[in-house]
Amino acid sequence: MGIPTYELNNGVHIPVLGFGVYQATPEQTVSAVGAALEIGYRHVDTAAAYGNEREVGQAIAAAEVDRDDIFIETKVWISDYGYDATLHAYDKAAGKLGVDQIDLLILHHPMPGEFELTIAAYRALEKLHADGKVRAIGVSNFGPAHLDRLLAETEVVPAVNQIELHPYFRQSDSVARADELGILTQAWSPLGGITTYFEGSHTSPLQDPAVRAIADAHTKTPAQVLLRWHLQQGRQVFPKSVTPARIAENFDVFDFELTVAELAAIDALDTGVRGGPEAEVFARENFDFEIPEA
Ligand code: NAD
Repeated sequence: MGIPTYELNNGVHIPVLGFGVYQATPEQTVSAVGAALEIGYRHVDTAAAYGNEREVGQAIAAAEVDRDDIFIETKVWISDYGYDATLHAYDKAAGKLGVDQIDLLILHHPMPGEFELTIAAYRALEKLHADGKVRAIGVSNFGPAHLDRLLAETEVVPAVNQIELHPYFRQSDSVARADELGILTQAWSPLGGITTYFEGSHTSPLQDPAVRAIADAHTKTPAQVLLRWHLQQGRQVFPKSVTPARIAENFDVFDFELTVAELAAIDALDTGVRGGPEAEVFARENFDFEIPEA
């Protein structure tokens, strides 16, 4: 049986569960993506800024799975925003990935301080889409107001908005606006990874007593419960791990269902506090790196 898919607003299908590679070193990326493809994953989420697109491509080329059966998603970094710069960002990404078409290309962040550059970058995505170089386009880390502004100034409704979303930060307003607009919400840090990445951050939802109790009730793990919670609420997910046992564990989520009460109990853990930075931080002067040509 193939992995279930969601239909994007342009008819393209995306696996409901994929594989994230943020913070995987280039070496780890080759083996982790290889392991994921062997286990059955058919979607990989990378980004120009992660520095591992080349290794994602290598793992895909080496796998015994047809390229056409794998959904590749990557992101344009803010230093490459602008119409021509973003067109060129596609060439860089496709070159590193070793493919002639990218399944889903998205803008990594809105730049609220230079939104006109964000718009110009999105117009380049529209052109890449019209030319068949990408099968779908989208955005990431857009709040409802960013989505509305983008829609007012561009033609193609984004297929996805990829946002921080885990039990401690549910962003219900962004999800609701995306739902109204026919945009699929992709949950980044679906296991709450971001809650543990910085010093002084709060406990991970993986350790939350409410999540652990639900996991025990189903003889499943907290990670599997969190992934079910997303999937049963219609969000696409791509948990990250470089440990084969966990990569397999995170894929083994199609044989149980959470009850309505269990979903509500996890919903109730929302603190309204994000783990990642506010959108305003994403300004070019705050990031001193550029995406290399090759
Ligand atoms: P995550 O929620 O996937 O958590 C990953 C961490 O959880 C791992 O580092 C590991 O320590 C742990 N883990 C994984 N599986 C586990 C298991 N079964 N049991 C116990 N612990 C486990 O966090 P993430 O990596 O931040 O997010 C997933 C993906 O989302 C990223 O790899 C990336 O592709 C994407 N992402 C996108 C953005 C964005 O701005 N668009 C930002 C962050 C992440």
